[in-house]
Amino acid sequence: MSCDDLFTTATKYWHRLDDGRIQCDVCPRACKLHEGQRGLCFVRARLDDQIVLTSYGRSSGFCVDPVEKKPLNHFLPGSAVLSFGTAGCNLACRFCQNWDISKSREVDTLASRATPDDIARIADELGCRSVAFTYNDPTIFWEYAADVADACHQRGIKAISVTAGYMCAAPRAEFYRHIDAANVDLKAFSEDFYRTICVGHLHDVLDTVVYLRHETDVWLEITTLLIPGRNDADAEISAECEWIRDNLGVDVPVHFTAFHPDYKMTDIAPTPPASLTRARDIALGEGLRFVYTGNVHDTEGGTTFCPGCGAAVVVRDWYALRRYALTDDGRCQVCGWRLAGVYDGPAGRWGRRRLPLLGNLSGGVK
Ligand code: SF4
Repeated sequence: MSCDDLFTTATKYWHRLDDGRIQCDVCPRACKLHEGQRGLCFVRARLDDQIVLTSYGRSSGFCVDPVEKKPLNHFLPGSAVLSFGTAGCNLACRFCQNWDISKSREVDTLASRATPDDIARIADELGCRSVAFTYNDPTIFWEYAADVADACHQRGIKAISVTAGYMCAAPRAEFYRHIDAANVDLKAFSEDFYRTICVGHLHDVLDTVVYLRHETDVWLEITTLLIPGRNDADAEISAECEWIRDNLGVDVPVHFTAFHPDYKMTDIAPTPPASLTRARDIALGEGLRFVYTGNVHDTEGGTTFCPGCGAAVVVRDWYALRRYALTDDGRCQVCGWRLAGVYDGPAGRWGRRRLPLLGNLSGGVK
């Protein structure tokens, strides 16, 4: 580790402590570091008496996906998104579904070099309407993500953050000035779950979604991965949806997605599709307008119904659009109701394809 490393850059959200350590102020983890130590996220470290980011311009891989896979169902529907991530994470979820990236050490994982301009150019060439910071949480590499977002905006391409929302207020405000849409993973609706399974705190995540909804123009959707016996009790789902309704409003889309056994939670069975349907019914009963099931085959749970007339205006099969009955500005073609979301022209035609990209973007992709 060296400050001369091409991928290492200075950061600004940190402060010195009386005992000689330096505290990183990017996320509520508040790592307190001695010289040479890395934070829990692994990609931020104390070097030369400051906190640096060691993964600027490095990627763990790229892929073109449908935006519905992020999941975002109300943001440029049907369009292609260039997804990428780096390495590391600032939570320690025992059920992590991307643990090979999030728990990796960068020397193993960060194979590709990618400048912000490289990423924007490739997204443009591939016809992507957005770039998504995903696979691991952009909170920990937000300076790089913000520069990528700026380069994308110069080409008319949007930027999406797929995040757990575990971020301190000041860097959060700076980062989300660059972002157009976010899917925030609300991992459960209990402090106990966050503390024991993710090693974090629920209230910090709730602060982030309230901030995004009320103090920014970022389009917001929420995802909860339902884990059998851990966060799928009716009362907990009901409390979560009631909180969303009362604090964020009925138009914020909510996705309930299926867990598969992974990382340190291989002893729990996959989520039965019936649990997702039950959660969706509870959410609709609490008055939320747009509730989806994910990672399962469920036509009804993948459909957007118009709040005005009840018509099935967007029917999805996995991530592909099977019916699309909205105008270019997102109005129901039956009754004219303007659906919440970001709509700009006809639906995209990317379908459910997944296109992995190989190689170093600076030298071209295959
Ligand atoms: S961003 Fe990383 S180093 Fe900073 S507080 Fe969070 S986990 Fe620790």
